[in-house]
Amino acid sequence: MVVGDISTGTDVAVVGAGPGGYVAAIRAGQLGLDVTLVEKDAYGGTCLNYGCIPSKAMITASGVAHEAGHAEEMGVYADPDVDVAEMVDWKDGVVDQLTGGVEKLCKANGVNLIEGRAEFAGSDKLRVVHGGDGQGSETIEYEHAIVSTGSRPIEVPGFDFGDDPVLDSRQALAMAELPASMVIVGGGYIGMELSTVFAKLGVDVTVVEMLDGILPQYGDDIARPVRQRAEELGIDFHFGLAADSWTETGDGIVVTAAGEDGEETEFETEKVLVAVGRQPVTDTLNLDAVGLEPNDDGRLETDHEARTDVENVFAIGDVAPGPMLAHKASKEGEVAAEVIAGEPAALDHQAVPAAVFTDPEIGTVGLTEDDAAAQGFDPVVGTFPFNASGRALTTGHDDGFVEVVADEESGFLLGAQIVGPEASELVAELGLAIEMGATLEDVASTIHTHPTLSEATMEAAEHALGHAVHTLNR
Ligand code: FAD
Repeated sequence: MVVGDISTGTDVAVVGAGPGGYVAAIRAGQLGLDVTLVEKDAYGGTCLNYGCIPSKAMITASGVAHEAGHAEEMGVYADPDVDVAEMVDWKDGVVDQLTGGVEKLCKANGVNLIEGRAEFAGSDKLRVVHGGDGQGSETIEYEHAIVSTGSRPIEVPGFDFGDDPVLDSRQALAMAELPASMVIVGGGYIGMELSTVFAKLGVDVTVVEMLDGILPQYGDDIARPVRQRAEELGIDFHFGLAADSWTETGDGIVVTAAGEDGEETEFETEKVLVAVGRQPVTDTLNLDAVGLEPNDDGRLETDHEARTDVENVFAIGDVAPGPMLAHKASKEGEVAAEVIAGEPAALDHQAVPAAVFTDPEIGTVGLTEDDAAAQGFDPVVGTFPFNASGRALTTGHDDGFVEVVADEESGFLLGAQIVGPEASELVAELGLAIEMGATLEDVASTIHTHPTLSEATMEAAEHALGHAVHTLNR
């Protein structure tokens, strides 16, 4: 033990208080376990402080400003005056409310909170170094540990996040003053969400992407309406280019990107936001001490109970396999806590929904038609376009469609892909339907409120059954 160390014991030590870790800690507390949650930075993790919540706040605020200034079709003429510093303050207020809530909920559930950076210090032991000079360290002896240390943005060689014009998503969401122009490296979901925010706030946005399209995890039909709308907002796309360096000019910077043939293209800009993905944080945990080794992606392999190769160590969220999503992290946190408490619990990743908060939004769950065929199903597909939805037309947002995928023989719903207004909300109904083992008939015969966007899910199910009313059947 280091001089100044204190030593404590706990049933469950949770490392990292993001949506994985704090949910695991609260659930463990609810189940009567003695639980200690260690966080080195801020309660709520990436999600509440720098990711999901601040980005969605800025998406909403920039959307309000944009809508207000573009509603002439509805007879509304306005030229909104945006104070970005106030917008960012409002966003920070939302974040503070939520992170404060996390701390209160943890305490109310008996969770022992420790501020500091934890690493493994041997089997069944963590060492926590408290922040700041002279604040000491402590050793925590645990029965079970849950690793929920999340992820950090991947840096592109040549672009150091410490250099002023180079931004990661966290820095971009904290800017109290907007640049006139911004190059966004990466057309994945973070790059696309943030390019929409900045374009709606009047920044001249250029997206530079190595692949030949945006949102590579989605099919062309899903990505197309998002790209079309982004182009309408003035976002300039350049595909097949890998950004490799930047240099200062008198009044800004030049970002250079190379094509596959080595030819360089230059982009003049004020700021460059690098959003090429995230990597798990497992390299700072001294995993050797507990006998764990990350896989090639830097993640900790886990089983259906979120357990790693070491019996009493669990891994959840962005450090565990699967999509890097907050709700997936939280569900894994609940499962890990319940397994530790001896409850029958297991992970079921069949129906993990995902959303992209672009304009229009994307919401997906379960299998696509191709996935279903690859898994041996005989898929049947039904679609409903939002331009046939009364409610979509009344909102002024009628791009996109709902697609449902089911097994032809049994009718069981297998998946849904939605691109359009409120897709992130609409997908919840179909996620529940999949979890409940619902069939197309169940969704089609459920009375949906009129006029709502949710009627489109019912119509898509009816379409798959060959009797849609408000669109033509095949
Ligand atoms: P994190 O939230 O990253 O939390 C990990 C915590 O561990 C951090 O607080 C960190 O400080 C702490 N920590 C790390 N190492 C140590 C240590 N050694 N000791 C103590 N503490 C430590 N997901 C969605 O589902 N929906 C969205 O809309 C969405 N939008 C996003 C937008 C952006 C811009 C970004 C960046 C991410 C977004 N995500 C979204 C992803 C989401 O934020 C992550 O999937 C989620 O936060 C993962 O949760 P986690 O608990 O695994 O890790």
